[in-house]
Amino acid sequence: MGSLVSSFFQNIRFYRSLRFRIFLIVLLIGTIPAVIMRFIMVRGYENRALSQKVSEVTNQSAIVAAHLARTDYFSDTSDPVINDELTQMSNLYDGRILVINDDFLIIKDTYGKSQGRYIVSAEVISCMNGSRNMWVTDDENRYLEITVPILDETTGVVYGALVASASTDGIHDNVEVLGRRARIVEAVIAVIVLVIAYALSMTLLKPFDKVIKAVDSVKEGFDPGTESIEVPDYTETKDIMDAFHHLMSRMKEVDDSREEFVANVSHELKTPLASMKVLSDSLIQGGDSVDAATYREFMLDIAEEVDRENKIINNLMSLVKLDGNETAKVNLEPRSLSEMLKQLIKTLTPLAEKSRVELLYEEKTDVTANIDETKLSLAIMNLIENAIKYNKEDGWVRVTLDSDLQFAVITVSDSGMGIPEESINRIYDRFYRVDKSHSREIGGTGLGLSITRNAILLHRGAIKAASIVGEGTTFTVKIPIAPGEAG
Ligand code: ADP
Repeated sequence: MGSLVSSFFQNIRFYRSLRFRIFLIVLLIGTIPAVIMRFIMVRGYENRALSQKVSEVTNQSAIVAAHLARTDYFSDTSDPVINDELTQMSNLYDGRILVINDDFLIIKDTYGKSQGRYIVSAEVISCMNGSRNMWVTDDENRYLEITVPILDETTGVVYGALVASASTDGIHDNVEVLGRRARIVEAVIAVIVLVIAYALSMTLLKPFDKVIKAVDSVKEGFDPGTESIEVPDYTETKDIMDAFHHLMSRMKEVDDSREEFVANVSHELKTPLASMKVLSDSLIQGGDSVDAATYREFMLDIAEEVDRENKIINNLMSLVKLDGNETAKVNLEPRSLSEMLKQLIKTLTPLAEKSRVELLYEEKTDVTANIDETKLSLAIMNLIENAIKYNKEDGWVRVTLDSDLQFAVITVSDSGMGIPEESINRIYDRFYRVDKSHSREIGGTGLGLSITRNAILLHRGAIKAASIVGEGTTFTVKIPIAPGEAG
């Protein structure tokens, strides 16, 4: 049973294969014309031969009929000349001749069987009524039958009719011979086409086999980064391989960046641990000689490092949540951006006051947009926090809200230190900081802007930074009002 099922699936695979289809197409294109040709030729011959025979027998019958009309055969059927003529003609065509008088009585049958009987066939009737000649064929019994009137050409008086039947055996035999020969030719063509079709289906698809082999080799662990696989035969296979290489190098990039990320994470997590280790070691070594004030100071430092470690871990968690194919998990709902920003300002005002920075909010229009409030809040909060952190004393931070037809536009500007030109494209990288020691001093983790960017990209929005060193920075965030449509 199992093998039956598997062979069924193998067969399906076979029928679906391009190789099989090419084989079939070539085979059909090669053989169908031969079959059609045979049909046309044999039929053509048959029709021609038959009409030749009809006209021949008709002519002959007309001659005999004319002869009959001139004699008084109808009153005396023993005329030997005429009878001879009739017998000769019936022998010539391997058939039979009937002479019928105007009472539909058969007065002469070369077979001698039906003499004295009446014949009332449609052909005879129409001949009696003036038709020139009529013919019917009987394919089954292989003969054709011709009926001509026996009439006086000058007066038009019809004396009777002559029915001549002739065998069509010869024609049928010829058709058979011809057909047989044509079939032999056909078979030869079919064999040749079969071989060609097989060869074509095998060779034409070879490059694809190479592609499959190349892809398989990667599956087995061959690294295309070190050696490129060449499959140059067709434009199509070359394109597939190019796309494949592209995909591979992209994967490698992703792999590299993941490795780098893990290295960075470890490094970042280790730094607070290292300081805690130093602080606690010096307390241990100091032993009883350490006074309570120093103890307390060191313990505060250690607590600070623990907070920092916590913050890094929390940031990493947010980043992981916002990363990758989390698109499905964005919970979009229509929300007033004005309310969201006002809430953020309220939350961050104490921090701004502590840093002696003035936090301002300006709103041109309120905008209701489809957003995931938690995620977007986090994104804008990071921007405002940065604007406060990287500011100077008595500086300012201004948050604005505006909108055009499709987008809500939020800007966060500050009067801070600014970001150097060469760093502006890297600030969204994980763990990137323009000034590592300064960022660490003010409690940065280097993850804030990558979280922000990811959250904005999840909303199909965009973020842009403009900065002048020493004067300040402006971040502009655009969020589509209905992200599904503005995509
Ligand atoms: P961090 O936790 O260090 O603030 P971010 O990812 O939020 O990490 O920011 C990356 C770096 O970009 C910061 O270290 C800082 O050097 C720079 N930066 C971010 N925002 C500003 C700003 N408003 N003004 C000046 N520099 C900024």
